[in-house]
Amino acid sequence: MNPQVQSDLESKFRALYGRAPTVVARAPGRVEVLGNHTDYNEGYVLSAAIDLGTCFAVAPREDGVARVTAGDVMRTVETSAAAPEKQPGESWSDYVLGCLAGLNARFGAPDRGFDAMFLGDIPLGSGLSSSAALECGAILALAKVRGVELPPLDVARMGQKAENEWAGVKCGLLDQASSVFGRENHLVMSDFRTCEFKPVAFPDDVLFLVCNTHARHALVDGAYNERRECCERAARFFAAALDHPVRALRDVSWNEWLAHRDDMDELAAKRSAHPIGEDERVLSGVELLRDGDVESFGRLMFESHESSREYFENSCPELDVVVEEASKVPGVFGARLSGGGFGGSAVALVRRRDAETAAAAISSAYARKCGSPCEVRALLCSDGARVVFP
Ligand code: ADP
Ligand code: MG
Repeated sequence: MNPQVQSDLESKFRALYGRAPTVVARAPGRVEVLGNHTDYNEGYVLSAAIDLGTCFAVAPREDGVARVTAGDVMRTVETSAAAPEKQPGESWSDYVLGCLAGLNARFGAPDRGFDAMFLGDIPLGSGLSSSAALECGAILALAKVRGVELPPLDVARMGQKAENEWAGVKCGLLDQASSVFGRENHLVMSDFRTCEFKPVAFPDDVLFLVCNTHARHALVDGAYNERRECCERAARFFAAALDHPVRALRDVSWNEWLAHRDDMDELAAKRSAHPIGEDERVLSGVELLRDGDVESFGRLMFESHESSREYFENSCPELDVVVEEASKVPGVFGARLSGGGFGGSAVALVRRRDAETAAAAISSAYARKCGSPCEVRALLCSDGARVVFP
């Protein structure tokens, strides 16, 4: 991420609190590369921590007060460090205070309060997980300042819990795990059954272009619930139909889906094709990267999008335009929607030397078809969340 963010944060911190922070942590956002809607089916995802992130700075106080400031808007909340309370009208503070509550539940109430401030360069709400970056940065910095440590997986889970319970967002673990386990020039391979997260080497002559359509389609919650119910129904069908144990769609192969698709209810058959196919694409994708076959990996991304469009129906016209236009651009190996779908961002895999011209071509083709350009930015695979000072 831009090193300017950390120095801006430190000077804003000094200006507001009259002293320097004693701890600064930094946590990246993430992009989902392959494996869509597989997390709640106990499947696999390939994602990457990106070179945009959030810095979180803290200094201890002598009293028990916790002050937290969002550095871009310079809004501050004040509460008790030992028993933080929700701050009406300041929903951004839920992400931080939820993490503080998580630390207190694990390590006991702290004997001192703190002043904190955060600043980042992830566009908020664009599908790059500014929320997870904020949580992971907050947990690492607040843990360090009270002299405790927790393993990376626990940082991710604590962030997820804060988001579920304080911000009221029913997210899975992907965003936080990607932020914590990211590595420069690597993707993160997540297994949501075993909760293992492994780095997978990624070539350095390609990068990702993330294209934010700014589209947000209505009824997303209802559509999301329908998808989840179909996946559960399909898993129950396969558990009864197959002669091996099936706990989730992760246990069903594509060939088994093909053999049984006509025996089950039509909608469950159609929806379940997506996570089942995605799991196989992630596993093939890991093999292809091991062989350095970026072209075939890119084709899997196009297949993934096609599966979203046809089976899961979580794409939308704007995302389809990005993917279709990207497929015509020289140097683009693959493209697909990234994240929940129904709007938001698409990600394209592009040869590094072609990135600039590809970004311009996609954006202007999008403008021709959709009326205004989509926002395209180049992203690199970066290191995961860590304390950067001291
Ligand atoms: P995403 O995680 O895709 O960016 P979310 O809706 O999950 O989108 O999270 C965005 C929310 O997280 C913001 O609305 C805000 O409440 C909070 N947030 C994250 N980073 C910051 C930041 N740097 N400054 C203020 N609020 C932030
Ligand atoms: Mg989020």
